[in-house]
Amino acid sequence: MPELPEVEVTRLSLLPHLINHQVERAQILVPALRYPIDSELSNKIVGATITDIERRAKYLTIKTTQGSLMVHLGMTGTLTINAPGTPLKKHDHASFTIGQHTLIYNDPRRFGALIWAEPNEEEKRFSPFFKKLGIEPFATLFNGDYLWRHAHTRTQAIKPLLLSGEIVVGVGNIYASEALFKAGILPQRSAKRIAKERYHTLAATIRETLHEAIELGGSTLKDFQHGAAQQGYFQIHHQVYDRAEQPCYVCHTPIRRIRQAQRSTFYCPQCQR
Ligand SMILES: [Zn+2]
Repeated sequence: MPELPEVEVTRLSLLPHLINHQVERAQILVPALRYPIDSELSNKIVGATITDIERRAKYLTIKTTQGSLMVHLGMTGTLTINAPGTPLKKHDHASFTIGQHTLIYNDPRRFGALIWAEPNEEEKRFSPFFKKLGIEPFATLFNGDYLWRHAHTRTQAIKPLLLSGEIVVGVGNIYASEALFKAGILPQRSAKRIAKERYHTLAATIRETLHEAIELGGSTLKDFQHGAAQQGYFQIHHQVYDRAEQPCYVCHTPIRRIRQAQRSTFYCPQCQR
């Protein structure tokens, strides 16, 4: 599943190809997605010039002179730049000719979304998706005090609490396991039983982990292709994630795998308390 770093890498890789270019042609091939694509989208977007691409959590908003297109990649969505005349593939849902390029949304499992809003209805169309989201991990507001303030009254285990996105967005399954390892915090520890100074460490390791993944171009996910339709994945060096039974790099204790809220968690029983 594309996580925040993958979505941010998609945004960064699309920007230089799309900004200030006009949508010359739009084809909706398969409207069926989590929310069906507006049947009038082609008419609404053709002629528009792309002005910006913004990201909030895992939502991208392509801003244009005629309205905005919000894109969510769901479980398996990709938004890629292709050479003009690239033959359409199975699971291509929409194709846009923009400047010298063809922008294609492909999504085999169809959990993604492409939602259009006219300039005056952006708030109404998009805000329902944003209203339960925590703050951005790279916002200046996000630090140890913020994390402590919102977490220390909760009895829930810290890892599923991070994963919920209620306090801070973008800490997906891989990144939660990795950030907790670096902070030395046991993933099953109740959020209210973590000292304030440890939240300072955790806020720092969350940022560090996400930043590292963005830098490397997104973590390794088999369905993920970043904007420029390149295959090369860059993987953050996982300390614990997907390393069950292998020795911890720090203390050589075998890494453990447990289930928390239907997700796999990996941790070192020696280094994390
Ligand atoms: Zn260890």
